[in-house]
Amino acid sequence: MGPLQIKELLQQTPDGQSVTLKGWVRTKRESKNAIFIALNDGSTIHNIQAVAAPGQFSAELLLTVTTGSCLKITGQLVESQGSGQAVEVKIDDLHVYGVADPEAYPLQPKRHSLEFLREIAHLRPRTNTFSAILRIRHTLAFAVHKYYNDRGFFYLHTPIITASDAEGAGEMFRVTTLDLEKLPRTEEGAINFKEDFFGREANLTVSGQLEGELGAMALSKIYTFGPTFRAENSNTTRHLAEFWMIEPEMAFFELEDNMDLAEDFIKYVIGYALEHCKDDLAFLENRLAEEDKNKPQNERSIPLLEKLKFVVENAFERLTYTEAIDILLKSKPHKEKKFQFPVGWGIDLSSEHERYLVEKHFKKPVILTNYPREIKSFYMKLDDDGKTVRAMDVLFPGIGEIIGGSQREDNYEKLLERVHEVGIDPETIWWYLETRKFGTAPHSGFGLGFERLVLFVTGMSNIRDVIPFPRYPKSAEF
Ligand code: ATP
Ligand code: MN
Repeated sequence: MGPLQIKELLQQTPDGQSVTLKGWVRTKRESKNAIFIALNDGSTIHNIQAVAAPGQFSAELLLTVTTGSCLKITGQLVESQGSGQAVEVKIDDLHVYGVADPEAYPLQPKRHSLEFLREIAHLRPRTNTFSAILRIRHTLAFAVHKYYNDRGFFYLHTPIITASDAEGAGEMFRVTTLDLEKLPRTEEGAINFKEDFFGREANLTVSGQLEGELGAMALSKIYTFGPTFRAENSNTTRHLAEFWMIEPEMAFFELEDNMDLAEDFIKYVIGYALEHCKDDLAFLENRLAEEDKNKPQNERSIPLLEKLKFVVENAFERLTYTEAIDILLKSKPHKEKKFQFPVGWGIDLSSEHERYLVEKHFKKPVILTNYPREIKSFYMKLDDDGKTVRAMDVLFPGIGEIIGGSQREDNYEKLLERVHEVGIDPETIWWYLETRKFGTAPHSGFGLGFERLVLFVTGMSNIRDVIPFPRYPKSAEF
């Protein structure tokens, strides 16, 4: 259905067969003997070269063939005369679907800064860099579904609008149909949410986990893969206000199983991209190498493919939070007071601490477990010592936390105690608590931030560049 994609045409054996090309002009070059048009339709990083003879088309028509214009070309697929490509198309007929005035079209064949491209997010998928990222993003998403489907997990659609604010994972976005100019009030003067659409306060979800657990308590192994919203008011290179999260949740999995799954899963999807995105990854690797040329030797990064293969082929380092604190206390930057934030048992590790462990000490991905209960969520299973919980964070070089997960507290009394401790009204999550009353079971799960994965695989450095239309403070254009 539809025309053959350029990706498919490039793989054909050239035999003078007639072909139709549809795509956007990347460059046009005129020499004495021919006019060369490089066309791209986004199916591959590679352009197809189309060649016309001088005088074959009117100067008027050729003037409208410019970078960004959209064409339909019919012609013959032949072996290429020039180097750089195996095949090319001898143009018989050329039709311009849409012009792109070079005076106005912002994407010209030169390097644009990523900051500039963010301002034209409606056009940036037409660049090599962003089309490569978007194809890799797609492939990773597909690999996620394949991984879980092949292993007996069911894709559970958890709600996007929620009325529970129990997760406590981040600041939430309010969902309301109330008239902000004329808010209904209770007798005490508070906003009367009984008159709101849901008859109560509602928000966009910060995590599908709580509902995911309900699914696991029936289907055994489920996963979610959906949008997640956090009103993160920090402008970091690793946080978005709207991001996609993958949250598997498994009955009969203990912390150990959970770690095994997380490691196997992440290696699988990276391996899948290595196998299926060779050209795009090679392009991005080159791009990074070009960028690195301007940096001093010691600041240059490991080549992208090497970095990815390393992760796939090596076991992640597993240690407890307590062991990690010991390492940090003995570390050079701690002794030389180089860390910005203090180190000590009980602290919430900051990204400089995580990066030290991953990038300096172990030089590989790390899984930290058994964090102090005070710094983790109420639903994490208490360890026997009563001080730590069965949490696990997977930390990646250059990224920091890529996965956060835990074995869940399956004991009703202990869970209720924690709910009270952190000040959640049990009434608001009565349905969650009931799973521990009726057929409770040991279970575990985790959340992987999809964009952090894409960030790692593409080697990009800002999370705003690995999602088509990023949402962050003061930015919701497009
Ligand atoms: P961080 O400490 O980096 O803010 P978190 O502890 O808030 O992460 P979790 O609540 O455990 O993260 O969420 C699970 C995963 O979702 C994280 O490991 C991360 O990969 C991803 N994630 C969390 N917040 C964001 C965000 N604002 N933008 C993109 N990904 C995020
Ligand atoms: Mn956070």
